[in-house]
Formats: sequence, C-alpha cells, structure tokens
Amino acid sequence: MNLPVTQLDDWQQLLSHTLDDPAELLRQLALPDSLLAPAIAAAGDFPLRVPLPYLRRIRRGDPDDPLLRQILPLGAERVAVPGYVTDPLAEAAANHRDGLIHKYKGRVLLILTGACAINCRYCFRRHFPYDENRLGPDQWREVLDYLHRHPEVNEVIFSGGDPLATSDRRLARMIGDLAQIPHLARLRVHSRLPVVIPQRITDSLIEALTGSRLQSVMVLHSNHGNEIDAEVAGAVARLRQAGVTLLNQAVLLRGVNDSVAAQKNLSERLFSAGILPYYLFVLDAVAGAAHFDVSDDEARALVLELQSELPGFLVPRLAREIPGRPSKTLLILSGDSTS
Ligand SMILES: *Cc1c(COP(=O)(O)O)cnc(C)c1O
Ligand code: SF4
Repeated sequence: MNLPVTQLDDWQQLLSHTLDDPAELLRQLALPDSLLAPAIAAAGDFPLRVPLPYLRRIRRGDPDDPLLRQILPLGAERVAVPGYVTDPLAEAAANHRDGLIHKYKGRVLLILTGACAINCRYCFRRHFPYDENRLGPDQWREVLDYLHRHPEVNEVIFSGGDPLATSDRRLARMIGDLAQIPHLARLRVHSRLPVVIPQRITDSLIEALTGSRLQSVMVLHSNHGNEIDAEVAGAVARLRQAGVTLLNQAVLLRGVNDSVAAQKNLSERLFSAGILPYYLFVLDAVAGAAHFDVSDDEARALVLELQSELPGFLVPRLAREIPGRPSKTLLILSGDSTS
C-alpha cells in the first residue's frame, strides 16, 4: 500500500494497488486483533479489497465505522441463513452470457467488465467471479447489431462489475459507436468508482461522456455521507459542469445507513455535491450478507420519516429488484395517500 507520491493521482495505479490483506487493514486502522481470524476466514470466500482514497475516510480505532462495515470481512458472513442464496436475482445463467440484458422497455444494460475497485461485502457479485471482459470485439459487434434491430431502445446503460474500471480509450470507442445509432438518445453509466477513487474522473473520461450527441447520465453508488469527501465533491463537480446528470443509488444496510440521521445526511451531502438521490434499494438476499438486512417494515418507516424531514427531491425511491418484473419494484410506503 505504499505508493510513490507521484502515482497517487493515477487512478489505474490506485485501482491495481488496493489494500487486500486483513492484517494490514487492522494495523492501519488501529483495530483489535480479535477481528483478524474471522476477517481472514471470510476473505477466503470473497477477498478484502479497499482502494486507498476510500481507506483514508475510515475513522481509526472504530470497529463500527459505517465505511469500514461495508468492506471488513466478518465471521457473520460464513453463517448460513435460510432464504439467503448465492444468486438472489437469478442472473447467473443465460441472460448475462453475451453481456447484454434487455429486460426493461426502452433501455438495454451492458456488462462491460466484471472488475470492481472495491469489494462491498453485501454485493451479490461475491459469488460470481465474472470474467474480466464480458464484451470482446465479437460480442460488441453483436451488441451493435442488436441495438440496430431494436429501434424502441433509446438508452444504453453501462454496468458491471464497475464499467469505469474500463479504460477511457475503450469507453470513448464504444460511445462513438453508440452515437452512430440514430434512435439512441441517452447513455447511462452505473458506477461506484468515482466515489471510491475520485481520481477516476479524468479529462478524457469527461470528454468521452460529453463529446458525442448522446445525453449522459451517471448513477453513482454511495451509501453514506462520509463517502462524499472534498475529493469526491470536486471530481463530481467537473462532471456536472460538463453537463452530465448525476444521480445516486444506495443500498439500505444495517449498521451503515439504517437511521433517519444517516439517510438525511447522505441526501444532504449528495445534493451539496450536485447529485440527486435516485433509488434506495433494500438488500438482495445474498448468502453472506444477512447481517446487513433491514426488514421491509423498518425500511418503509425510515423512508416515511425521511419524507417528513426533507424536500421531496431529496427522498430516494425505496425499491427492490424482483426477477421477472418489467421494472424495479417500489415499496409502497402507506396504503392511502389521500386524507
Ligand atoms: C435496474 C435495471 C435497469 C435500470 O432501471 P431504471 O429503473 O431505469 O433505473 C435497466 N435494466 C436492467 C436489466 C436493470 O436491472
Ligand atoms: S462496487 Fe458495486 S458491483 Fe462492485 S462490489 Fe461494490 S456493490 Fe458490488
């Protein structure tokens, strides 16, 4: 983890030099040795992976830090809990094979890469060692063919893994190809990378996102206000000034952001950085993540209270993904909205 100072602005260096050793994590954050054995065991199932800029935002000596809880492997992950499965979204099989998923009207989701900058303990990706590159040149031609044959699609979503783990050159080439398909209007990028390595927002990325006729939307993934530090805010401001619409999706996680205060703070911090809350997802029932679960009733109560605390545009939509549905499923907050 000792990077030469000259490399600290290079996102690719930061991406390849993440902290992966549980003992080193505990040492750097002055955490008790009792956490080590379970961390090593759980990291054997799904490795520890933390980029340096994210590590710096974790409070030293606090085992309950909300950022630490998202990345620290725990013994609880290895306890089997009924109902928690390796593939809650039934995505393993056929429909991901060529890297293109067309489930919702008008938009197509592309899996650009399986790589991520950080390993979030609650992620279903923990059970899928996705190939690095799902979209090789042959598959890319097939994607373009598919899009040409589907004039009803007007939006392409870059997803992953984390699509911004891909080089700017590759992204620029792909966006250039997409911009030539006349019925496409929008490009959307779903990424946690600008939050965990803000150096990822390079000039060439901004150019790729704003240099074509397509309108660009970036949906970031931040779960806690402490993740939005000055570096993140600065990087995101450059995207916004260049005309990229910025939204955020979060996951509701026990011990991380399951309080009105934490959600309020997240919304306020996001908006100060020019980002609007979009979705707040209840946890997918992923094996190893049961200790993060917040019940639907608690989630509804939390968002109802949030509604009474914040302007409507700072309240995220509480939702879950149910396989086979034509959209995300919103959780109904109250039975009757009239008086
Ligand atoms: C979540 C998702 C989308 C995007 O849904 P929005 O409600 O438009 O944000 C699109 N396609 C697939 C397959 C998805 O899972
Ligand atoms: S960045 Fe997103 S896809 Fe990657 S591990 Fe975290 S939640 Fe999963």
